[in-house]
Amino acid sequence: MKTVYVDNSATTAMSDKAIEAMTPYLKGVYGNPSSLHTVGQVAKEALEDARARIAKCLNCEPREVYFTSGGSEADNQAIRSCAINGSKKGKKHIITTAFEHHAVLHTLKKLEKDGFEVTYLDVHSNGLITAEEVERAIRPDTALVTVMFANNEVGTIQPIKEIGEVCRKKGVVFHTDAVQAVGHIPVDVKEQNIDMLSLSAHKFHGAKGVGALYVKRGIPLNTFIDGGAQERGRRAGTENLAGIVAMATALEEACENMQANMKKEIALRDKIIDGLLKIPHSKLNGDRKKRLPANVNMCFEGIEGESLLLLLDAKGICASSGSACTSGSLDPSHVLLALGLPHEIAHGSLRISLSEYNDDEDAEIILREVPKVVEYIRSMSPVWDDLEKGKRKHLI
Ligand SMILES: *Cc1c(COP(=O)(O)O)cnc(C)c1O
Repeated sequence: MKTVYVDNSATTAMSDKAIEAMTPYLKGVYGNPSSLHTVGQVAKEALEDARARIAKCLNCEPREVYFTSGGSEADNQAIRSCAINGSKKGKKHIITTAFEHHAVLHTLKKLEKDGFEVTYLDVHSNGLITAEEVERAIRPDTALVTVMFANNEVGTIQPIKEIGEVCRKKGVVFHTDAVQAVGHIPVDVKEQNIDMLSLSAHKFHGAKGVGALYVKRGIPLNTFIDGGAQERGRRAGTENLAGIVAMATALEEACENMQANMKKEIALRDKIIDGLLKIPHSKLNGDRKKRLPANVNMCFEGIEGESLLLLLDAKGICASSGSACTSGSLDPSHVLLALGLPHEIAHGSLRISLSEYNDDEDAEIILREVPKVVEYIRSMSPVWDDLEKGKRKHLI
């Protein structure tokens, strides 16, 4: 049985090029970039070369890139640093959206306990917010606006450039969690008016446990980890050199092939969306156009997401009901609830996140198996029986 891996928003397979690039740093080049001898300096050169290559992909300067252990760390540090620096000037208000990743939302919840005030902008039913809504929420005491570039569940892409423009005009720092965007759609921190940006290697065919935070020159940045002088004194600890080199190579590869990858993914995505919408009482979540090329997110009425996933897994299809972080809990996704979906509909969600490694055969397997599994679950569901007999009203 062919494995159809369509959970690329949770993590991706490493690319061959990234593995090849990192191997010498696991096998031969073992130096510590902080050592003064030749072995250390070879490592240091590779580290700075990787930083420059990543900076080029983002259109920033190498010194504006700080390596981290991934997207969560980058989000935590960006937000905490802005909060602390803002509060020194009496600014204790932060603006975000209701459907951010938990790395952002849980950091903000902690800050609320420490006396910060957070405005959670409502997301429209299409999964989008507007720059005007951000502008209206900005106050004289706003320290930070943090809005994700692209949502990890429903794939919607926010008007980042416009939000950045509003923040520049008002003199407020703008951070974006771009973990789902970088390497997948065009990202340019200069052109898009971004002050701080989080990225993670394992979402674009790099290794797990490595990411970066971009911080525009002039934006104050606090120390993440105290200790040695690594990362311009902001984050102590010997660098994950192999992971960092692989990240640079994976990102270059993703950016070089971006147009072709997007074209391929959009074709597969639209074929899957059109096919799955033929299932009665189904619905696409998130804007049809302003979404990631690789994202499909559907709801099927009368279905429990967990059973759908388990039955699809038995057919070799690895998908998700939403975020990897909420799976395991029975609460419906906070993202789908933020879009205004009722609980019983939000429970029946399916996220298919593609990559350029997927092909037509994968799409055909999905289009063959998902309708069968949905029908099978419905045939055994008392709720569906009530819906069909008119004892309950269909919601979609
Ligand atoms: C995966 C993800 C993260 C977390 O990144 P890690 O590198 O796994 O810590 C943060 N934000 C978004 C939008 C993500 O998709």
